[in-house]
Amino acid sequence: MLLAPEITPNAYTTPLRRLLGPGPSDISTRVLQALAKPTIGYLDPSFVGMMEELKALLRYAFQTKNALTFPVSGPGSAGMEMCFVNMVDRGDKVIVCRNGVFGNRMVENVERCGGQAIIVDDVWGQAVDLNKVEEAFKQYPDAKVLAFVHAETSTGALSDARALCALAQRYGALTIVDAVTSLGGVPVLADEWGADAIYSGSQKCLSCTPGLSPITFSDRVVAKVQARPQKSQSWFLDLNLLLGYWGETTRTYHHTAPTNSLYALHEALLALQQEGLEQAWARHKSNHEALKAGLAVLDIRYVVEETSRLPQLNSIYIPQGLDDKLVRTAMLQEHGIEIGAGLGALAGKIWRIGLMGYSSRVENVVACLAALESVLISQGYACQAGQAVAAAYQSYAQQSLS
Ligand SMILES: *Cc1c(COP(=O)(O)O)cnc(C)c1O
Repeated sequence: MLLAPEITPNAYTTPLRRLLGPGPSDISTRVLQALAKPTIGYLDPSFVGMMEELKALLRYAFQTKNALTFPVSGPGSAGMEMCFVNMVDRGDKVIVCRNGVFGNRMVENVERCGGQAIIVDDVWGQAVDLNKVEEAFKQYPDAKVLAFVHAETSTGALSDARALCALAQRYGALTIVDAVTSLGGVPVLADEWGADAIYSGSQKCLSCTPGLSPITFSDRVVAKVQARPQKSQSWFLDLNLLLGYWGETTRTYHHTAPTNSLYALHEALLALQQEGLEQAWARHKSNHEALKAGLAVLDIRYVVEETSRLPQLNSIYIPQGLDDKLVRTAMLQEHGIEIGAGLGALAGKIWRIGLMGYSSRVENVVACLAALESVLISQGYACQAGQAVAAAYQSYAQQSLS
């Protein structure tokens, strides 16, 4: 007798949601439809042509001429790991800026590669302090790499990537930049900054399905990796091997590329290019302003100061007396809206409202504020129904005048 499943499974139907958390974000119909195209071989000439377009679209998104620009077959964490396992040798000193959850993961990566992490800590919710990083370089001038998170999704803080890359160059170090949440939402300018390695994620401001990590490497990194005395400890993420599939000239088997996901990424990047990067950044800003106006009426405060606030990730303090879990559950069950909880030290203290990529739309801002008002009132919070929504509309009206 064969074992039968111990439950009776049904075809899975997904509930309708608005994804207004820290990712994944809403996915447009055109991107979902791209996923359903027939699977073809990853060495099929037609597929190879699509890959070339995909690389060109990624270069546009990253604003780079870097030849080695492609999507890693894995989530943002795989892109992060690819940078570290290729760019950090045993004993290398790496300055890591830590102002949230993802900076801490970078420290983990350095240590697992046998490197020495020089940690520059900042308060969660603040941007990376350039002076502290400069002090670290003065103390450890032989540091090989500077690693930092451009947009800290755990706190909503944006750091000055341009200045950090310039600082690293002055001290002769390579840079690893986490742009998982920033790419497509705020300017990411790889060549202008002179960044060496930047990785992102498909499911945040690019609004593609989760599981891919766009990445770009400068020629300096390629030269360093090719001259490496020891092999990278990771076979799957070894750039020297992946160059055979994603490189300029050859197309040889390394692993089976996730073809359908790559169709979807191609479509999402095409949508971004058709809208235009500057227009996409402006849209994120505009919807952020409207949400902010509504939250102000509800007397809800932001975690991050205005100057380093991410428009695509609004982290806000939970007003006193409200139950974090009850509110988020009501938002999801009664209104179909997912918002994010706080992580680490900020768990239970903040909410994170994401307006990323295709989620950054007027109807989502309005729906979110209307739902939040209604849930807060049902929890006994003192505010008047309709006022937050009215403030958001007022903000849009003002924006269209200026
Ligand atoms: C989401 C995120 C990651 C990790 O991406 P996954 O796709 O979840 O692996 C890394 N860094 C930042 C800043 C993120 O927001």
